[in-house]
Amino acid sequence: MTDKELLKILVEKRPVTCIECGGKLTYDGLGEYKCMECGNVQLDDFGKVRRFLVENGPRPAPVVVAATGVPGHLVTELLKGGRIETIGNSKVFINCQNCGCAIRYGRICPDCAQNVAQKIALEMVVGEKAHKEEPGKVHNTMKMRYFGSNKK
Ligand SMILES: [Zn+2]
Ligand SMILES: [Zn+2]
Repeated sequence: MTDKELLKILVEKRPVTCIECGGKLTYDGLGEYKCMECGNVQLDDFGKVRRFLVENGPRPAPVVVAATGVPGHLVTELLKGGRIETIGNSKVFINCQNCGCAIRYGRICPDCAQNVAQKIALEMVVGEKAHKEEPGKVHNTMKMRYFGSNKK
């Protein structure tokens, strides 16, 4: 498994909502996620394996699997060649650019995307209104259209 494939699995499985209160989680680095509402800390599969190794020292894969509940193939991949050191700070673990919560892909979380979409929709309505209320603007557009067709 390449680093890319391993990261893809980790990101797909990363926690995004708090198991305690349902609040949004923000990525703190090294596989740890903190709830923005109650401060509860959750770990992804990488974080679970990492924390276990930090607390218990190097252990064989079956022991790590038994202790963390992380699937065996992921543990094997994480224990390979110092990946546990490098993967936690990888850039694929992203936060929403707007509110800072953990997201799996894109730039902003679904909540913020919805807010932005509503804002755009509102601006479009307002824009349409302004367009209708300003005859000068309409005239300009028509002129430009005429100019455009004349050019051909
Ligand atoms: Zn919470
Ligand atoms: Zn957001």
